[in-house]
Amino acid sequence: MSHSFHRQLVFTIKDRCRVCYTCVRECPVKAIKIMNGQAEVMNDRCIGCGNCVNVCSQGAKIPLRSIEPVQVLLKSKSRIAACVAPSFPAEFEEIKDHRVLVGMIRKLGFDFVTEVSFGADIVANEYEKMIKSSNYEGDISSDCPAIVYFIRHYHPDMVPYLAPIASPMVAMTRVLKKKHGDDLKVVFIGPCFAKKAETTEVDEVLTFRELREMFETLNIHPGNTEVSEFDPPYSGKGAIFPISRGLYYSANNQESIPEERVIIAEGRVNYKEAIKEFEEGYIRKKHLMLLCCEGCIMGPGTSPGGRRFARSNAVGEYVTHKLANLDKPTWETSIAEYADLDLSQSFTPEDRRLASPGTSEIAAALQLMGKFSPQDHLNCGACGYDTCIDHASAIVTGLAETEMCLPYAIEKLHDSISSLNVSNEKLARARAALKQSEKLAHMGQLSAGIAHELNNPLGVITMYSNILMDEAPEGDVVREDLKLIVEQAERCKKIVSGLLNFARKNQVNLTETDVVKFINHSLNSIVKPDNISCSINSDIADPVARLDIDQMMQVLTNLEKNALEAMPSGGNLTVGVEGDAGEVTFIVADTGSGIKKENMDKLFTPFFTTKEMGKGTGLGLALIYGIVKMHKGRIHVDSNADPLERPTGTTFRITIPRGN
Ligand code: ADP
Ligand code: MG
Repeated sequence: MSHSFHRQLVFTIKDRCRVCYTCVRECPVKAIKIMNGQAEVMNDRCIGCGNCVNVCSQGAKIPLRSIEPVQVLLKSKSRIAACVAPSFPAEFEEIKDHRVLVGMIRKLGFDFVTEVSFGADIVANEYEKMIKSSNYEGDISSDCPAIVYFIRHYHPDMVPYLAPIASPMVAMTRVLKKKHGDDLKVVFIGPCFAKKAETTEVDEVLTFRELREMFETLNIHPGNTEVSEFDPPYSGKGAIFPISRGLYYSANNQESIPEERVIIAEGRVNYKEAIKEFEEGYIRKKHLMLLCCEGCIMGPGTSPGGRRFARSNAVGEYVTHKLANLDKPTWETSIAEYADLDLSQSFTPEDRRLASPGTSEIAAALQLMGKFSPQDHLNCGACGYDTCIDHASAIVTGLAETEMCLPYAIEKLHDSISSLNVSNEKLARARAALKQSEKLAHMGQLSAGIAHELNNPLGVITMYSNILMDEAPEGDVVREDLKLIVEQAERCKKIVSGLLNFARKNQVNLTETDVVKFINHSLNSIVKPDNISCSINSDIADPVARLDIDQMMQVLTNLEKNALEAMPSGGNLTVGVEGDAGEVTFIVADTGSGIKKENMDKLFTPFFTTKEMGKGTGLGLALIYGIVKMHKGRIHVDSNADPLERPTGTTFRITIPRGN
């Protein structure tokens, strides 16, 4: 008879996925694809083992639901048999008398409630015959549908070794159809949801979890149920089937299968290893009893949180009780009755192995994750793949993404944090500069207002005091007083014109200038004390720039005067110019006292001076600021006032566009 049809067993609710990659790790066949940071089960690769459903803490993997079709079946006119898997005592541990459970299932509307373990009894006999046959070459048990899918899809060359024997579920279905007629509908109830796609011979498959849900919906519980016994045929040792090594013990003949003929492997790591070793020829003439889960009692269709050993104990107790009460002659008659039943099963290979990508493609994927040498292969498993190479191959085949690599993601995060820090710093600097220029702009407005108002009265004072001075006779005391008034009024006018310069709104008058000659000229126009050595340092290919000569001359001479004033006991003054195609930079450097850190942001504020009364006005740098802004340039100051740190001194750099 044919085996298996394709049916989607696990559905993905993508929104629930929190990308922990646990399902990727637990999936034995890598049937889970990560796309745009979300896991999706690929139906054509899935073997229905249910690992992903079990491990997903977010409920993002949903098994195929059969309650509704079973309800439709139960409402139909057909006669329906429930076939209960022998692991039921493990699931319904709280129901000590199995007849209560049978009564509850009957109450759902089943015409017959039978035990699959009779199927296990007759199947065990077939296995025994096969294993003891003279030409026995070894086999792989075919009762676990997930193992069968695994072999058909991922080890197609091993399909001939799948035992050509029906599973206990299928065997029991055939028994029941023989007993009650072909029109009987069969619903298997068990711990497994891979069974839902095992065969078309069984009409529907319910998991124990679904059975519990149906009881709950219809309010069926032991308190409102009449006890009832399973319907025949009655089973024997087959009931022990779900416990590990169950098949071995359920062979019922006097001489049982020699233990050394059987290899048992349960769980994804073990069964894969066993099949590999069998395929590679390390194991010969052995019966490989393989289970996807850790025994059917922990299958994905059982309720979560079950205790493995308590469940195993419950099955053991049920079997002990059953065998103690077994009516052997009746059982033997039943076995004999179905001796001729066809228990054969055939399997076809269906290769779904992915072609392994080339080494250069893998290397390229590894490099994208920042893995260049074997030392970079951490093989941490955080991505769900055992090795970095496995992960890289999955990326090449489109199953995985680079971002799944934790060390890579952490490194990327670090990069983003540092670039964020850099932009934060830039932003902070820009804000400080903006604050400063706003402050200066406000001061400029105020100063311009005051200066404008003072200019006229000052003019009047100067004019009249000069007239009075001219009229006063030579040697008169009044004349001396008037001279002082004229002097101080002149000083006031200077301050006022300085303020007007700072807040200057008038245009620059750009003229083509040789900047090297220009700095020479600026140095010549100031008085230099003897204890100062001056040098010129020009390094510019094209010395021509367009600037406002008068204003820029003020800038340079003011900077030079400040530098000299910072070196009362001597030092070096260096004036230089450099430039590129777009800009020229004037540099005035001294080896003077330096500017204290706390004064750095006050430098350009009008009237800020550290010089004694009458010496400094605090308008020099404010004026420079105004002029440079009008040239659309910028000022950079580097200064050190702490001799312990490095030699003291100040360097002003004024950069302005060439203006062409
Ligand atoms: P003033 O020279 O009238 O004090 P400025 O606006 O020219 O006003 O300078 C403001 C202040 O900046 C000075 O008082 C001084 O403290 C500081 N300063 C400017 N240039 C230098 C320099 N080259 N070395 C040390 N301090 C300086
Ligand atoms: Mg000055």
